[in-house]
Amino acid sequence: ATTNKKTLKIASIPGDGIGKEVMPEGHRVLEKAASRFGFDLQFTDIEWASCDYYQKHGDMMPADWKAQLQSQDAIYFGAVGWPDTVPDHVSLWGSLLKFRREFDQYINLRPARLFEGVPCPLAGRKAGDIDFYIVRENTEGEYTNLGGVMYPGTEREIVIQESVFSRFGTDRVLKYAFELAKSRERKHLTVATKSNGIAISMPWWDSRADAVGQDYPQVKIDKQHIDILTARFVLQPQRFDVVVASNLFGDILSDLGPACTGTIGLAPSANLNPERKFPSLFEPVHGSAPDIYGKGIANPIAMIWSGALMLDFLGQKEAHDAILNAIEQVLKDGPRTGDLGGKATTVELGKAIAGLI
Ligand code: ATP
Ligand code: MG
Repeated sequence: ATTNKKTLKIASIPGDGIGKEVMPEGHRVLEKAASRFGFDLQFTDIEWASCDYYQKHGDMMPADWKAQLQSQDAIYFGAVGWPDTVPDHVSLWGSLLKFRREFDQYINLRPARLFEGVPCPLAGRKAGDIDFYIVRENTEGEYTNLGGVMYPGTEREIVIQESVFSRFGTDRVLKYAFELAKSRERKHLTVATKSNGIAISMPWWDSRADAVGQDYPQVKIDKQHIDILTARFVLQPQRFDVVVASNLFGDILSDLGPACTGTIGLAPSANLNPERKFPSLFEPVHGSAPDIYGKGIANPIAMIWSGALMLDFLGQKEAHDAILNAIEQVLKDGPRTGDLGGKATTVELGKAIAGLI
């Protein structure tokens, strides 16, 4: 039968280790959400960008990888890395970091949310107290190779490493963060800087936030120094809604935020090219977990949540919300995988979540 349903084209790359175990559960849940909300998913299963592929071909990806992915709406990625056979820097630089750079995925997005049934390392917090997004600049800033060592090996040794912030690169991440804040109920944006200590680039970041914020009068801007900001992540996490930060500060915050919710093992992430000039990539934060691979006990929630972020990004917010509600319910009532103190398998968890959509 012909249909005018919307079709989303997804490149599905399980990668290595438990990536191969949690990916099918991601498919299961996303397919269920698609049928419920009336759109189609067309998965293209890709076996490259894995260490198995590297062992056969001497490279992580085929020469035409970019052309193969360019026509896709998004990339759904499991995990890469199998240090027994391929050094981590080879597998990582040969796959994920190439995507990030070549597809200009300049936003790294990570949610932090506290769920009932997940032990929170912060005392006295209950579900709903923590629910925010961290927006990290993903392409420039502190992570450059500009600099060098003077007088190496002597008492006078001096090391210089430059940070680079462009107006283009800074404004576009700020704009994304303002848009996200605007779309949320609280419309609150925290800007992480350090304008009292890093006295050239950080006051400039603050001024760019004010300039970009001119277009978003409905969003409240809250500039905070990174030191007090990290303390508040722990002491007053309920004050955050959307947090935007440079590459380095964002890197730190995007580990700390999910850690405060006890969900580092459940944490999803998105690497976005918001204009959709190139495909964006959605992956769990965790790695390939060689220690548990092959047992069918990996928790698939980070993979599934990453898939929900992907649907949201591709315009299916209702599907995202339904998946999040199902995850919330399963975390509360079970079944649970071993990392959360239960005995359920990867497949049982995937089926339970799909069953609630
Ligand atoms: P990376 O590959 O990002 O460097 P890593 O190799 O240090 O990360 P992971 O592969 O994420 O770390 O594993 C860290 C620990 O968490 C391991 O003990 C692993 O078994 C556990 N773990 C990771 N992901 C999951 C999951 N989805 N379910 C259960 N346990 C997990
Ligand atoms: Mg690893």
